[in-house]
Amino acid sequence: MVKAVVGANWGDEGKGKITDMMAENADIIIRFQGGANAGHTIVNNYGKFALHTLPSGVFYNHTTSIIGNGVALNIPLLIEEIKSLTDRNVPKPHILVSDRAQIVMPYHILFDQYEEERLGKNSFGSTKSGIAPFYSDKYAKIGFQVSELFDEEYLKGKISRVLETKNVILEHLYHKPVIDENELLNTLKGYRDMIEPYVCDISAYLDRAIKENKTILLEGQLGTLKDPDHGIYPMVTSSSTLAGFGAIGAGIPPYEIKEIVTVCKAYSSAVGSGAFVSEIFGDEADELRHRGGDGGEYGATTGRPRRMGWFDCVASKYGCRLQGTTDVAFTVLDVLGYLDEIPVCVGYEIDGEVTTDFPVTIKLEKAKPVLKKLPGWKTEIRGIKRYEELPENCRNYIEFIEKEIGYPITMISNGPGREDIIYRESPLKK
Ligand code: GDP
Repeated sequence: MVKAVVGANWGDEGKGKITDMMAENADIIIRFQGGANAGHTIVNNYGKFALHTLPSGVFYNHTTSIIGNGVALNIPLLIEEIKSLTDRNVPKPHILVSDRAQIVMPYHILFDQYEEERLGKNSFGSTKSGIAPFYSDKYAKIGFQVSELFDEEYLKGKISRVLETKNVILEHLYHKPVIDENELLNTLKGYRDMIEPYVCDISAYLDRAIKENKTILLEGQLGTLKDPDHGIYPMVTSSSTLAGFGAIGAGIPPYEIKEIVTVCKAYSSAVGSGAFVSEIFGDEADELRHRGGDGGEYGATTGRPRRMGWFDCVASKYGCRLQGTTDVAFTVLDVLGYLDEIPVCVGYEIDGEVTTDFPVTIKLEKAKPVLKKLPGWKTEIRGIKRYEELPENCRNYIEFIEKEIGYPITMISNGPGREDIIYRESPLKK
C-alpha cells in the first residue's frame, strides 16, 4: 500500500508532522523530489528537529528511510544530518539512497549564489542550495548520478567535459574563480566514500516491498503552488511537488499510490517572492507570524520570516485537485484561537470579475482577495481528541472550508506533537 503526503499550498503546511505521525504505521518512507532547500520541523520525544534531506520517518526504529532518485542529493549535508540525529541520541536510522539519485555538486551551490547576485533585485529569493542549477543540469543531461561515483575513469572524463562549459561561465559571466578538475575529482571521491554504505537499487527494493504488502509513504516537499508546471511559475521550485511525480521520483507504478493525504494549514504562509493573494501585512501579519506554527512562522532552513495570509480556498481547492487528494489533513488550527473573527479568502477578483478557479500567473498578479469573515472560537483547542468536543465555531470553520475546497477533511491537527490529531468522518469521503 503506497500513500503520499503532500502540500496543497506554498509549503510549510505541516507535512513533516503528518508524515512523522503516519510513519508510526509505515515500513518505508521515501522522499521523491526537492533537496535540502526546504525543511520539515518535527517535534517528538527526542526534541525538536529540522530535517532537510532525510524523510520524516527517521525517528522510528521500525522504518526504512529512502532518498529517491527524484531528490537533489547533497551528500555532505545528508551525512551531517544523520550525525545531527545520532548526536542527540536518536538511534541511527536505516537509510537507503537511490543509485539513480543525482548529486548536488559544489558548483551548483556557487552558481545559485552567483546568479542571485547577478539578478540583484530581480532575484528569485532562492535559498541558494543549488537546487535550480542542479535540476537544470539534470535535464540538460550533464548531472552526476550516484552510480557514476563508482567508476573513476568515467568520472574523470565527465568532469573534464562538464567543466569546459562551467568554467567559461564562471570566468566570463560571473567573473569568479574557475574549478580545478583534480580538486573536483577528489571531492567526488570523498562523496563516494560517504554515500557508499547507503546506495541501493531503490525501484527493485520498492517492487519487492509492494509485493510483500509493506506500507510505503511518499513524502513531498513544498506544495502544489510551487510545482514548476502547475504552480506560480516562475516563482516555483525546480522539481514537481505533486503526488503523481511520486511514482517517478521513487520509481514505482503510478497506480500503486492509493491514498493521497494533502496537507492544508488553517491559514496561509509563503516564502520567497511571487503572488500571494490573501497576504496580510503589518501588525495583523506580525501577530499571526508570531503565534503561528510551533514557535513562529520562520523558515526551517533559512530562519527567514514567512509571509502570512488568511486561508485561501481558491488556491487550496486547486492545490488539492492537482494532488489528487483522497484526504485533507487540516493543520495548525490551534493557532487561530486568538481571533474574534477569521477572514477566509473565498474568491479572486480579476479585472472586475470574481472567480474561484486558480488562474495562471499573469492573471494571478492582478487578483484581489474576496474575503468572508467567520466567527472565531476564542479558546484553546489543544488537547482535544474528539471532533465533537471542538467548539462549534471551530467546527463551522472546518466545515465551511471543506465545502469550499470540495475535498474531505479527515484529520485535524491541533498542536505540533504526534498525538495532537483529531480524526473526523467527512461527508465528502467516498
Ligand atoms: P512542512 O515543511 O510542511 O513540514 O512544514 P513546517 O516544518 O514548516 O511545519 C510547520 C510548523 O508547524 C512546524 O514548526 C510544526 O512543528 C508546526 N506544526 C505542525 N502542525 C501543527 C499544529 O497542528 N499546531 C501547531 N501549533 N503547530 C504545528
